[in-house]
This record gives sequence, structure tokens and C-alpha cells, in this order.
Amino acid sequence: MQTTRTFLSAAVLTSSFLLSACANSPTGRQQVLLFSGSEMSQLGAQSFEELKKQEKISSDKKTNAYVQCVANAVTSRLGPQENFSSWEVVVFDSEQVNAFALPGGKIGVYTGLLKVAQNQDQLAAVIGHEIAHVTARHSNERLSRSQIANAGLEFSSLLTEGSEYQGLTMAGLGLGVQYGVMMPYGRAQESESDIIGLRLMAESGFDPKQSVELWKNMAKASGGNQPPELLSTHPSHSTRIADLNAEIARLEANNTPRQNCKM
Ligand SMILES: [Zn+2]
Repeated sequence: MQTTRTFLSAAVLTSSFLLSACANSPTGRQQVLLFSGSEMSQLGAQSFEELKKQEKISSDKKTNAYVQCVANAVTSRLGPQENFSSWEVVVFDSEQVNAFALPGGKIGVYTGLLKVAQNQDQLAAVIGHEIAHVTARHSNERLSRSQIANAGLEFSSLLTEGSEYQGLTMAGLGLGVQYGVMMPYGRAQESESDIIGLRLMAESGFDPKQSVELWKNMAKASGGNQPPELLSTHPSHSTRIADLNAEIARLEANNTPRQNCKM
């Protein structure tokens, strides 16, 4: 009886918690967000510091200036952010074909990506897409989901073992710190980032059509002996390209001057 009562009160507590945590993504998708923006920014910043210790940072001036030029053009389009004052861009000297953006305004670009993203517009497509994961709060959403899944596990163990309810809401946060911020996103989040990223790059003065060329290049590169890391989390399937083409057709003309970032 004690167990049932504890279970019920925990369930009620959690469901009211979840109701208060509902939000809408920039494209109107419903999200459950259990963490505050500042908590997520802190997590992102911590993970970024760890990565900077582990990976070799590129000191090549030309490469850094080029990546910075593209990233600046895209981020300056966004305006001030709520939980951090500026975006930090780091170029990692690595053959990995990869890039990411973390809450807290942290952007990482691997030099290996620059062989596949062959011009400023293709690089802007990747950076725009990664930034969209941040502005649409996808890490928060993903981490919240894993929290709820953990809570579900705790509930079932309450029923089967009759153990006491303990520290439910923050269970698994330690795990989230290690894996939550860097894990692959879901399909809905990927499509959403494609759309937001595309609009963002176009409004920043880059050619949105090059996003399609980027994914084609990525698919081509997957045949080599070192398949792109980015492809393991971002499958370049025909749906992705068809969706991008449809969105490009919907884009309205803008009068942003064309960017001129060069290596
Ligand atoms: Zn993505």
C-alpha cells in the first residue's frame, strides 16, 4: 500500500512537472523541456572545454579566418542570445569530416569537413544546420526525453520490487552530462534543423542551393576508406535532399549582400 501511494504521488508530481515543461519549437513542434536554458548552456560549455583538451586545435591562420568568417556571418544574423553573450568557434585539426554546435554558443568545425564542404556556401549549410540544433533547443529536448525514460524505469522497479522512491527527477543527470549533449538527434529534429538552417544561411548571404550539393558530396565521400563522421548522425538519404529542394523553392528572395569568405 505504501509503495502504491508513493508511486502515485511520484507519478502526479512528474506529470505536473512535465505539463509545466511543455514548449514549442521554432517550427511549431511540441517539445518537453525539463532543463533551463542556463543549465543547458553550462552543460554545453563544459563538454566543449573537455573536447578542447582532447582534440588538437588548428593554429592555421587562413583556415581559422575562413571558418570564422562563415560562422560569424551566420551567427550575426541571429541577434543576441538569452543564455550566452557570444558564439565561440574552434577549428579542430582532424581528418574527421565533422562539425557540431552546443548549447552555450559553442561551435566546433573539423578540418576534415573542409574537404567535403567545398565552398563557403556548403560550409554555411553545415554551420547553419548545427546552429539550428542549438536555437531549437534540441539537446534540452533529447536530455529531457532520456530523463523521462529513466523515470519510467524507476516507476516499474517501484512496482516490481517495492523499493522506495528516490531522487527521481534528477536521476541520470550524471549520465546526461557525459552523453546527452553529444548524442545523435532524432529524425524530427534533423528535418527541423535542415529547414531552420537553410533559412538562416540564405538570410546570411549564402547560396541555399549549395546545401543540396553538400549532402551529395557527403554521400560521395562515404564511399572512401574514411566515411564522414557527420554521416553517422546525419544520413544523406534522398528524402533529405528532396525536402531541402522543396524548402529552397519556398524561400523568398532577400536582399542580404552575398558573403565573400575565402580560404
Ligand atoms: Zn543534425
